[in-house]
Amino acid sequence: MEINYYNVIIIGSGPAGCSAAIYAARSGLKTAMICGNAPGGQLTITTDVENYPGFKHILGPDLMFNMIEQCKALAVDIIYEHVEQLIPVNKDNIEQPNNIKFLLKTFNEYYAEAIILATGASAKWLGLPNETKLRQNGGVSGCATCDGMFYKNKEVAVIGGGNSAAEEALFLANLASKVYIVHRKDKMRCEQILFDRILKNPKIHIIWNSIVEDMLSGEDNKLSYLLLKDIISNKTQELKVEGAFIAIGHTPNSQLVSKLINIDSEGYIITEPNSTKTSMPGIFAAGDVQDKVFRQAITAAGTGCMAALEALKFIENNKN
Ligand code: NDP
Repeated sequence: MEINYYNVIIIGSGPAGCSAAIYAARSGLKTAMICGNAPGGQLTITTDVENYPGFKHILGPDLMFNMIEQCKALAVDIIYEHVEQLIPVNKDNIEQPNNIKFLLKTFNEYYAEAIILATGASAKWLGLPNETKLRQNGGVSGCATCDGMFYKNKEVAVIGGGNSAAEEALFLANLASKVYIVHRKDKMRCEQILFDRILKNPKIHIIWNSIVEDMLSGEDNKLSYLLLKDIISNKTQELKVEGAFIAIGHTPNSQLVSKLINIDSEGYIITEPNSTKTSMPGIFAAGDVQDKVFRQAITAAGTGCMAALEALKFIENNKN
C-alpha cells in the first residue's frame, strides 16, 4: 500500500476545494486534492454560468476544468479517489513525523498536517423520472441565481416552502413574468419577512397543498407544463411553465466527519465566525458543506481561499 505525506490535503474539488488548493500550493505547502466521486463538484452538472467574475459566459464543466488545470499547473497532486475515513493521529498511535496530525484512508493512505473539507452539498430533487431528463438544459434547475436569467419574461414555478423556495421566488420575480410557488402544505415555513414580501409581490402566486406528479416536455425536449395534484381534493391540473426551480433543501456532504467535529442539526459543519476553523484544530471547512445561506461558486471559492490561509498559519504554528 502506498503511503503519502502532505502539508495539507483538501477533500473535494469544487470551487472551494480548487481555490483552497491554489492558495495552499502558492504558499509553498505540499498540497493534495482528493476529488471524490464527482470531480469538479456541483458545477459540472450545470450548464451556463454567467455570474462568476471574469467570465461573461462559461459552461460549468469548463469552469471546473479550468480550475483543476490551474491546480495541476501549481503542482497540486490531484487524486481521483474517494475518502472513506479521516482519522486524527498522534505520536502514541502512529510512528510518523511529529507534525502529522491526520490519516486519510481511500484504498490508499494519506497523511497530512492539516485538512480542508470542501465536500460540498447535494441538492435534493423530487425524484421524478422526467425531472432527471429535463435537468440537462430542459428547464428544470436547482438554482435561480444561476439560471434565472434564462427565464426573462417567462412563466416559471418554484417547488418548496422553505427559505430557499421563498428566496428563489423573489429572485425570479425580478426576471420572470409570473412565478408560481408550488407547496405541499397550506403554510410556508420560510421567515415571515420573506413571506410578507411574497404576498406583496404581484408576480408571485402560491399554489397550496399541491405536489408535482410529473413534468412534461414538448417536441423541443423543453419543459412545457407541470402536472400538479391537489392533495386535499385529489384533483390534478396542468400548470404551463417554461422553468421549474426545485428548492426542497440541500444535504451537506458532512458524513465523513459527523462523529469527529461539530455539525448543526441539518448536517452543516459549524465554523468559527469569520473563519473556516472547525471544532477540531487542524481541520478547516470551506464551501457549501459549511454554508447554508449563500451556496454560490464565488462564495465557496472565497472560503476556500480563507481555509488555505488558515491552514498555512496552523501548520506554521505547529512547527514551533
Ligand atoms: P428547508 O428544509 O427549510 O425547506 C424545504 C422545503 O421543501 C419545505 O417547505 C418542504 O416541505 C419542501 N419539501 C421537502 N421535500 C419535498 C418534496 N419531496 N416534495 C415537495 N416539497 C418538499 O430547506 P431550505 O433549502 O429552504 O433551507 C435549508 C436551510 O437553509 C434552512 O435552515 C433555511 O432557513 C436556511 N436558509 C436560509 C436562508 C437565509 O437565511 N436567507 C436562505 C436559504 C436557506 P414541508 O414544509 O412540507 O416540510
